[in-house]
Amino acid sequence: MERRFKVGVVGAGIAGLACAQTLRNNGVDVTVLEKSRGIGGRVATRRIDSGASFDHGAQYFTVTDAIFEKQVKLWCDLGVAGVWHGRIVSLQDGEFADLQEPRDRFIGVPTMNAIAQSLALDLDVRNDVTVQAVRLSNGKWQLRDATGTQHGPYDFVISTAPPLQTRTLLGDRSATVAGRVSEVRMAPCWAVLCEIGETMSVPYDAAFVHNSALSWIARNSSKIGRDASNCWVMHASPAWSQHHLEESADLIARTLIDEFWKVTLQPALTLTFVVAHRWRYALPIEPLPERFVIDLDTNLAACGDWCGGPRIEGAFLSGHAMANALLARL
Ligand SMILES: Cc1cc2nc3c(=O)[nH]c(=O)nc-3n(C[C@H](O)[C@H](O)[C@H](O)COP(=O)(O)OP(=O)(O)OC[C@H]3O[C@@H](n4cnc5c(N)ncnc54)[C@H](O)[C@@H]3O)c2cc1C
Repeated sequence: MERRFKVGVVGAGIAGLACAQTLRNNGVDVTVLEKSRGIGGRVATRRIDSGASFDHGAQYFTVTDAIFEKQVKLWCDLGVAGVWHGRIVSLQDGEFADLQEPRDRFIGVPTMNAIAQSLALDLDVRNDVTVQAVRLSNGKWQLRDATGTQHGPYDFVISTAPPLQTRTLLGDRSATVAGRVSEVRMAPCWAVLCEIGETMSVPYDAAFVHNSALSWIARNSSKIGRDASNCWVMHASPAWSQHHLEESADLIARTLIDEFWKVTLQPALTLTFVVAHRWRYALPIEPLPERFVIDLDTNLAACGDWCGGPRIEGAFLSGHAMANALLARL
């Protein structure tokens, strides 16, 4: 019997899952190796003891492309995504104005991460596997993880890790991949998650903040399917995050919470939970124009929101295009 073509995908974010799902739907034997306990990458949700949850990475997604539109419709039909009807404003120096934007903002339901869970259904995803090296053995790729365990053999390997990690992983094996990924830089983002133990009366649910260390604040509980607690997620601007990148999470949390009271014109209220999360590689500063990087001499490739991206839509389209390019060559 003819052996099926085997693909190893590094990373179970939206790009890796979209890629793996397209390959699997076309009969390819695909395994996804993910370093974290969960899946979704930057489409992340954190739950706390009180039962509240926070979307501390991606906040929502928009749709411009017909292929992604089809996927979003499917997610909505499955009940794992919906339109966010929160009141979103532009906020500066205490003054706010409603955004006049024609496009819907979609969210995962009941958490952002639900869209990743949906993509991962029926996929072979191996969690807690940090891929550290790729090695050729009898013409096939073997992947070694941080515990020394070997995964494979694979006919083809696709990395969806951020550019720097992809370069470390595949760079020595493929000059093509190394050359392209070296051109991409990612901007960091400090996020702060807080649960407020009292009522807070601001007349909006989220704001793009200007003239501040913060660039975004959102009442997580204004999104459908969330716990009713008064939970907020705030993101610092890329420039502020870069400048304060190596500071302690405690100091960042204190500083950004103070800024939060300032921009929302609130007194310091009681917090029942607060934590800061450092996203070292949050958003590509300038994504590559192509949707994926492929090296057919070595059977190595890379994709992600930094290829033709950015954002959730870009990550999905990158993974989808990567898979179709490979399928076209089989
Ligand atoms: C703070 C923040 C706010 C954002 N806001 C929005 C928003 O509002 N709207 C929007 O559309 N987008 C937003 N984004 C961007 C969006 O989250 C990303 O564009 C998208 O999720 C990227 O998906 P990806 O699959 O390309 O990468 P990732 O989600 O980063 O997935 C890569 C995966 O690879 C894994 N990995 C890395 N190295 C290894 C290894 N060695 N071995 C195994 N696994 C590995 C990682 O753990 C991760 O799961 C935001 C991102 C951040 C951080």
